[in-house]
Amino acid sequence: MIILAIESSCDDTSVAILKDKELLSNVVSSQIAFHNKYGGVMPELASRLHVEKITYVIKEALEIANVKLEDVNYIAFTQGPGLIGSLHVGMQAAKTLALLYNLPLVPVHHLAGHIYANRFEKEFQFPMLALVVSGGHTEFVYMEDELKFKIIGSTLDDAIGEAYDKVARVLGLGYPGGPIIDKLAHEGKAIYPLPLPKNDQSFDFSYSGLKSAVINLIHKLEKRNESYLKEDIASSFQKVAVEILIKKTRHVLNQMPVKMIAIAGGVAANQELRTRMQELINKEFKNVELSLPRLSLCGDNAAMIGMCAYYRILNNNEFGSLDCSALATYSIEKF
Ligand code: AMP
Ligand code: MG
Repeated sequence: MIILAIESSCDDTSVAILKDKELLSNVVSSQIAFHNKYGGVMPELASRLHVEKITYVIKEALEIANVKLEDVNYIAFTQGPGLIGSLHVGMQAAKTLALLYNLPLVPVHHLAGHIYANRFEKEFQFPMLALVVSGGHTEFVYMEDELKFKIIGSTLDDAIGEAYDKVARVLGLGYPGGPIIDKLAHEGKAIYPLPLPKNDQSFDFSYSGLKSAVINLIHKLEKRNESYLKEDIASSFQKVAVEILIKKTRHVLNQMPVKMIAIAGGVAANQELRTRMQELINKEFKNVELSLPRLSLCGDNAAMIGMCAYYRILNNNEFGSLDCSALATYSIEKF
């Protein structure tokens, strides 16, 4: 089967073509350069840029895959969660193609897509644990079986990616901050002690306290005219931000039956997280398999949406209709 998948939930316009599980093309058109000067994604601008780009991205993805629209069997798209104006553009493009070519529409949950990005690396083994770490989410998703999602822990306030972006903004490093902090952290030393947030036995997270602690630290240093290296701040923040993910993962793995753990979302690209998670599994949980998505599929992309759609189709799940809506908020448990 040939699947054309569209992702437009935030600031990336992306279209992928899959032949079953084989990725024929995955075009990602990033809007970062346009949002950078605002220090974050400007929703109005994001939807307008999606409108400008979407047809070109569809055309390019088809050309690279050497596939004609007439050969496509399914149209998949991200239904939510995300920015409503952004989601609408991808959804309307998907509906238009489905209507014109009389094809079934396959709506996909964005975070399920991030989890299924791991399917390009490894077969899934259930029960499985997914650690979803992105700009809007930080949660443990437990999967007893294919496409069955249960949230067993989540952030009580900010997402980890949001904390990375905010700390980067205060340090004047630009947007998105995650990759910049990650790079700087390796050039500095974690000399500033910061509190380990929500350091308890629960499976929940909290990142707003850590974010405030870093901002207060920077303000205090500046008020005292003490010089500091941004690298050391980045390193101190990253150490604690990742440490708590590792600790909480250890709690879950000690308490729940898990055959495989998959890391998902933009922050899955974080080098410290990838290394520390590999160490944790190698040292303490030898019977658990770890899956890390390839770096090119950590951020938002349509390939992951196509992969998740493929399993949705195989499982004969209900398909979408032309009157379905985009969902700005959408729990993965409802997918
Ligand atoms: P997503 O919400 O899945 O699109 O992921 C975007 C988020 O991932 C943003 O908050 C980025 O700052 C963050 N991010 C991307 N790369 C990294 C990285 N290497 N380390 C930490 N955060 C990252
Ligand atoms: Mg995302």
